Amino acid sequence: MSQLSPVLKQATPVVAVRGEGLHLYDAGGRRYLDFTSGVGVTSTGHCHPRVVEAVREQAGRLIHGQYTTVLHDRLLTLTERLGEVLPPGLDSLFYATAGTEAVEAALRLVRHATGRQNVIVFEGSFHGRTMGAASLTTAGTRFRAGIGPLVPGVAVAPFPAAFRLGLSEDEAVEHALRGLDEVLATVSAPAETAAMFVEPVLGEGGYVPAPRGFLTGLRERADRHGILLVLDEVQSGFGRTGRFWAHQYEDARPNGDAHQHGDAHQHGDARPNGEGLRPDVLITAKGLASGFPLSAIAASAELMGRAWPGSQGGTYGGNPVACAAALATLDVLREERLVENAAEQGERLLAGLRAVAAGAPGIADVRGLGLMAASEFCRPDGSPDPEAARRVQQAAAEHGLLLLPCGIHLNVVRMIPALVVTAGQVDEALELWAKAVAAGSR
Ligand code: PLP
Repeated sequence: MSQLSPVLKQATPVVAVRGEGLHLYDAGGRRYLDFTSGVGVTSTGHCHPRVVEAVREQAGRLIHGQYTTVLHDRLLTLTERLGEVLPPGLDSLFYATAGTEAVEAALRLVRHATGRQNVIVFEGSFHGRTMGAASLTTAGTRFRAGIGPLVPGVAVAPFPAAFRLGLSEDEAVEHALRGLDEVLATVSAPAETAAMFVEPVLGEGGYVPAPRGFLTGLRERADRHGILLVLDEVQSGFGRTGRFWAHQYEDARPNGDAHQHGDAHQHGDARPNGEGLRPDVLITAKGLASGFPLSAIAASAELMGRAWPGSQGGTYGGNPVACAAALATLDVLREERLVENAAEQGERLLAGLRAVAAGAPGIADVRGLGLMAASEFCRPDGSPDPEAARRVQQAAAEHGLLLLPCGIHLNVVRMIPALVVTAGQVDEALELWAKAVAAGSR
C-alpha cells in the first residue's frame, strides 16, 4: 500500500471532503470554520457559486491551451481585466502556476533586465520553496537547511519588525533602512544589485505589516541606485488586507478613504496615475484564482522588453480553467465589495484578538492588516513560545476552528479567513479562539 510522504507536515488532522464559503466538512459531516482559507487562497470562500460556474463552463470548452503554442481567450481577457486593478504602469503580465514559480520568474526578469546578479531580501522573508525562491527566503532555517548550496548573490537586510526588535515602528523603519544602506555599502554593491524583493506584510515570517515609511525608503534607494523594487504580494494581495494591494497602505492618503477595488479606476477614486508607491515588479498568486493554481508577475512593458522572447515559459502557465476562475474572482470581489469587507471585518477581527490577548498573558503581541491577523505567543521572559502557539492552534482545531502557525520561531498563530467572511463568523471565530487560548494556556 502506498502512502503520503512524511515530508508533508500537517497542521490539523482534518480530512476535508467538501467546502462551502467559510466552512470545510469532513467525511463524518463535522463542520470546521476555516480561518486558513488554504493559506490565503480561497479569497471568495470555498466553492463560490460564480467561480464553480465559470470553471464548469470553461472545463467543457477548453481545459488546456498551452500558451507558448496557442493563445486563448481567457488569458487575453484576464490580462485586460487585471489592468483595472494593477498599479499604474504595470501593464505587462507573465503567468505561471504557483507563487514560487512567479518569484523565480521575477528573479530571472530582474537579472535579465539589469544585467546585475545580486538581490537583496529582508529578514523573515518567505518567497517559496523552489531553489531560487528558497534562496530568497529567510523566514526560518526550516526552509533552507540541508538543501544547499543555494543560489548565490542574495544579501539579507533587516525588516522593520518593531515588536521583535523591541523598537517603535518609526525606530524600526530607521533601523531597517540604515541596515539596508549598510548592506549596499558592505555586501552588495549597488552596481551589482539587480533588485530588492520584499513582502509588504511579512507572511510566513510572522504577519508583520511593514510600517509606513519603509517601502518609500526602499523606493528612494531603488531610484538612487537603479535597483528594481519587487513587491511579493502573493499572500498580502488581491484584496486581503482591505486594499487591493497591501503596498497601497503606503500611499500618502489617510487610511479609511476609498479602498481600492476592481472598479477603482472607473469610479475615479484611485490615486492619480503615478502617485503613490510604485513597484517595478509585482508578484501575485494565491487569492488570484480562488483556489486554482495561477500566478503572475506584472511589470512595465519596457522592463519586460529587456528580457527576450522565450526567456520565460512553462507548460501550465495561464491555464484556461484557472484564468476563468480568476475572472470570476475579479467579478465577485467587485460585486460583493469584498475588499471593503476585508477592511471592515479585519478591524473587527483585530479588535477581538486584542480583547482576548488582554486577558491572556501568553499573547505578547497582536497585529495585522485587514484579514491578515495574528497573535504572537511569548514566555514571561519575552522569549518566543512556539509550544504555546501550537497548543492553542491544536485546541482551536478541536473546537472546530482551523488556524495556521507562522513566524520565524513558529510562535505566531494567524487568521486568514476568506474575504466573504461575515461579522457573525468573525465573532464565532473569536469565541472559539478565546476557548482555545484558555485551553492551550493550561
Ligand atoms: N511568496 C509569498 C509571500 C508567500 O506567502 C508564498 C506562499 O506562502 C509564496 C511566495 C510561494 O507561493 P506558493 O506556495 O504558491 O509556491
